[in-house]
Amino acid sequence: MENKNRQTDKKIIIAIDGYSSSGKSTMARELARRVGYVYVDSGAMYRAVTLYALRHGFVGRDKPLNREALVAALPDIHVSFAAGCGADGVQHTLLNGEDVENVIRDLEVSSYVSPVAEIAEVRRALVRLQQEMGRDKGIVMDGRDIGTAVFPQAEMKVFVDASASERATRRLRELEAKGEKVSYEEVLHNIEERDRIDTTREQSPLRKADDAYVLDNSNLTREEQMEWLIDLFDRLTGVS
Ligand code: C5P
Repeated sequence: MENKNRQTDKKIIIAIDGYSSSGKSTMARELARRVGYVYVDSGAMYRAVTLYALRHGFVGRDKPLNREALVAALPDIHVSFAAGCGADGVQHTLLNGEDVENVIRDLEVSSYVSPVAEIAEVRRALVRLQQEMGRDKGIVMDGRDIGTAVFPQAEMKVFVDASASERATRRLRELEAKGEKVSYEEVLHNIEERDRIDTTREQSPLRKADDAYVLDNSNLTREEQMEWLIDLFDRLTGVS
């Protein structure tokens, strides 16, 4: 089953969008592995830029976001990915060459990332990079605007949905597993706040593309989600 796509030369672009902590990254990474495509986590790119802003004092506790300073620093911010450089063998995010995969997942970065992602210049720079990554197709990218703004021509678009409480429960489990001490309320608040900013912002707000397939994974196991995705992939690429 995992080798099915090798029967066809047709490479497509797969865009997976959805709300915060909907499990789309895990799903997108696994789908890419199964069909032999490259996986790109676009949220990690916004997170890396946010980490840079935090480290340079452009935003922080009691410090409103200094948009001008961040925009001026954009030429100095280089985000890239390295395949399997961690002990876990998965792709890691690099900020100016430094492996920041773990730190960008902290609640601190999560708290500031949506305001940073609202900045038009930040989006323009990252979208350009994302489009370059998809030039040869054969890519799965997940985020908020992949099917609407980054790759409106993507052959396979999926919009992942799940209730905020379900997403908060899952995210809490992940953070606890990493040893972070956070409450369910804090996590839920962060998710709801990001949903609010992401769906109402002026620049490429999160919305389902008209031609996207909706996957509500509230009550699906990981394997069931994967079956759903592979089935759709096979239909769209003509694999029998
Ligand atoms: O996907 P993840 O939760 O890691 O994304 C972090 C944040 O980055 C989102 O809450 C959103 O504000 C922003 N983002 C975005 N566009 C994308 C991916 C992420 O605005 N394509």
